Amino acid sequence: PAPVAVLDGRPRVGLSAEDLELLASDPDVVKAREVNSFQRGSDVIVQKSIREGFGLVVAEAMVKGRARKGKINLQLEIPDDLPRLHADQRKLKQILVNLLSNAIKFTPQGGHIKLTGAIGADNRILLVVSDNGIGIDEDELAIVLSPFGQVDSPLAREHQGTGLGLPLVRAMIEMHGGSMELDSTPGVGTTVTLCFPASRLAG
Ligand code: ATP
Ligand code: MG
Repeated sequence: PAPVAVLDGRPRVGLSAEDLELLASDPDVVKAREVNSFQRGSDVIVQKSIREGFGLVVAEAMVKGRARKGKINLQLEIPDDLPRLHADQRKLKQILVNLLSNAIKFTPQGGHIKLTGAIGADNRILLVVSDNGIGIDEDELAIVLSPFGQVDSPLAREHQGTGLGLPLVRAMIEMHGGSMELDSTPGVGTTVTLCFPASRLAG
């Protein structure tokens, strides 16, 4: 399918005032926020399809907010028939925002980012965030996965960060009994694969 939206060519971290405004006025987000605030603090695992889930709604809204001037394409490929998933909505949102923010930060203008949902072997649910950005050197994979681990690059110098995103994503997916895999090739791009076990399928 064609890319659904375009991101601002100057990658930004987090949500801008414009993004937040769009979020606040999006009826889907308002609904999702009600669900989210209902659950805040309780850390309950809820049953929601991924598409309905707050995480993806926010991710889509971020994309919408950057659609105008953009030079980075963001493509969402979540099949409508993807089974429902038991997941913590807030954590799912944090996971996706972290990974999409990284993809945006480390992909130059004209690049592509893709979020894919799929059913893998043994009924595992896979969420994949891939980009064709600057990539990560093999020697540096262990560094970036460790708390505060960052690698110097011209793009990294333009952005602030603490180096906690990936370790947090890994911790949050592991709380769901799942796993995170990072594949990257310098100059080619980065793919992060999240794998939720079949026990997370809500049928
Ligand atoms: P934070 O997420 O805390 O704001 P950060 O983005 O620097 O800061 P992580 O998300 O943990 O921290 O990522 C660690 C490092 O891994 C980054 O600084 C960058 O060097 C590298 N990295 C992460 N994602 C990508 C990516 N998609 N492409 C290239 N490099 C990446
Ligand atoms: Mg990050």
